[in-house]
Amino acid sequence: MNEFHYFDNAATTKICREALDEYVNISQNHMANPSALYSEGRQSKAILTSSREKIADYLGVKPSTLFFTSGASESISIVLSSLLWAKRSGEVIFSSIEHEAVSSFEGLLREKGWKVNYLGAKGGFVSPDELEARITPDTRLVAVMAVNNVLGTIQDIKSLVKVVREKEKEYGRSIFFFSDCVQALGKTGFSLSDLDVDGASFSAHKINGPRGAGLLYLKKGQIQVLSHAGGQEGGIRGGTENLPAIAAFAKAVESLKIWDEKKIHGFNTMMRLALADSKMKILSPDHDTSDYILSLSSPLPSEVAIRMMQDKGYLVSSGSACSNNARGKAEAVFRAAGLAPYAGGAIRVSFSCDNTEEEVRGLIQALKEL
Ligand code: PLP
Repeated sequence: MNEFHYFDNAATTKICREALDEYVNISQNHMANPSALYSEGRQSKAILTSSREKIADYLGVKPSTLFFTSGASESISIVLSSLLWAKRSGEVIFSSIEHEAVSSFEGLLREKGWKVNYLGAKGGFVSPDELEARITPDTRLVAVMAVNNVLGTIQDIKSLVKVVREKEKEYGRSIFFFSDCVQALGKTGFSLSDLDVDGASFSAHKINGPRGAGLLYLKKGQIQVLSHAGGQEGGIRGGTENLPAIAAFAKAVESLKIWDEKKIHGFNTMMRLALADSKMKILSPDHDTSDYILSLSSPLPSEVAIRMMQDKGYLVSSGSACSNNARGKAEAVFRAAGLAPYAGGAIRVSFSCDNTEEEVRGLIQALKEL
């Protein structure tokens, strides 16, 4: 792996030294179950508590609103599954560029009598006006991701939530606003405390943390859950806590403070300028878009281009890293954004602070050679 230049950081990132050291430290020195009553157990519990506090501090929310999970997919699943158990079905509104972890619930929800409506995303952006027009007295939940994982577009969550809050007043009932914030955490000036969302999902392995740790933010705490097990995580997510991964997640979050956003902005600008007069088409919009993600389209089919890039030592993706039919999933995003003709040749480049300018120059050269 080391001989490759890794540009697929929206799919997953390399665990940082601080997080890895913490993972090993907790695994070896604090192996007791946080629920155990002896002193080692209490120490583990204290680590769990301080990890939650550190992340809450970074996000600017109360620790009691944060629940550790195995990853963002599980966080999303907890929220959307809760609808399946509701006494009465209603209507949900998803943006048409949601990650599969959200959109894959469509079938289950429909089976249970829910109506699933989609919001368009022309140019990669969801419009507050369209949301306003679509909400009905039956709408129970709206899900719009903060930053799209294929194009990198940053959604105007504040304005979208404002629309929902006004509709709540008009209809005299609550509407749950959920935002998948996986690709926003630590990037693009993201601040959870600025957004009045009811629920949000996060993932450790997208920010140089470990696999197997995620977070569910719930403004009001309670939600109908499927697995109660031992009542851990306030009953939201039962089961023995993955303490090494959780503590390492907190370390990764702390390390976000030293991320160099200017460096990433420089990489993005460099690529846009260098490829402007090439046969590559830049698909990611040049405004309100994360510097960390740059989608392009080459005249070659994605699979061929990605294999050729790999042969040159550069790892890039076709748009999304779902376990199967990744291209199909990214295609839905390109279609919604009005970029369908370019979907077949799509290449997603995603940066991390580990990348160097020299590597980016090499990447540009390799893309030009395609
Ligand atoms: N949401 C978005 C936007 C993602 O990019 C991903 C990762 O691919 C997920 C959710 C799922 O995250 P996890 O791998 O932690 O389940």
